[in-house]
Amino acid sequence: MNRRTFIRTLSAGLIGATLPSGVHAAIKLSHQVRRKPNMDAHIRDYLAKIEHFDAPHPNDLYLDQKRMPLLSSTLRRLLKVQSTVGHGFFSLISIDQAIHTAGAYPSIGAFTREELDFLEMLFYKDGALYGFLGEKPLYKFTATIPVKDAMKIPGTGNYLFKGQSVQVYETIKKAIGPELILTSGVRSVTKQFMLFLNKAAQCNGNLSMASRSLAPPGYSYHAVGDFDVGQVGYGKRNFSRSFTDTPVFKELVESGFATLRYTRTNNFGVRFEPWHIKVA
Ligand SMILES: [Zn+2]
Repeated sequence: MNRRTFIRTLSAGLIGATLPSGVHAAIKLSHQVRRKPNMDAHIRDYLAKIEHFDAPHPNDLYLDQKRMPLLSSTLRRLLKVQSTVGHGFFSLISIDQAIHTAGAYPSIGAFTREELDFLEMLFYKDGALYGFLGEKPLYKFTATIPVKDAMKIPGTGNYLFKGQSVQVYETIKKAIGPELILTSGVRSVTKQFMLFLNKAAQCNGNLSMASRSLAPPGYSYHAVGDFDVGQVGYGKRNFSRSFTDTPVFKELVESGFATLRYTRTNNFGVRFEPWHIKVA
């Protein structure tokens, strides 16, 4: 199919949308019907989509291609803010702090009005338009994470929320030992924007495909307590299905710590994430 036929445009000129009908209700039934050969077509389609998350799908929504340069310039500026404030601290800063930092450093340059409008518009878009069906724990574009609420986890470059997140992590770490590492912790709106826009750029503006791997800004539970773990020395493969082959994952399952947010048949419209620990 010609890629242009995938691109539908809303009156806002940002994105186009087709949400498969009855997905929410259908997915609730997915566990029961999974083994049935005559499984309902749209459930089969949904499960295939989250299984093949990194492939385009006929109902995917693309950013208006005219906006791709805007996506690139916004992403570049966010990446410059990240290298200026440091990778660790970047995961805590709000949009207002990112705007302030960009304006204060000539090497970054202030966000343009167009870039800020673009970020704000994306933030307030309903994720369900892309096929992301989870809740939105952060509902304010300017949400802040008080530094005093977070704790840097030594040797990881990542922060966790004090309290339950740190307790869960320390319990898991104590049980599994030095082979287990925290690979991603607290993520502010700013950090989630950087990750999401980076993925959207890699996906050629396919916002649905991006949202099957990364929650759109505001929708990530990393902003309220969830975190990712991995196997020491496993690098990027910690964020792939092969993480399930590691001793760390096997121990997570055996010790009962694998309380996953995004299971194989999750109803969020998201890929299977065996590394993402549900806390919030
Ligand atoms: Zn995660």
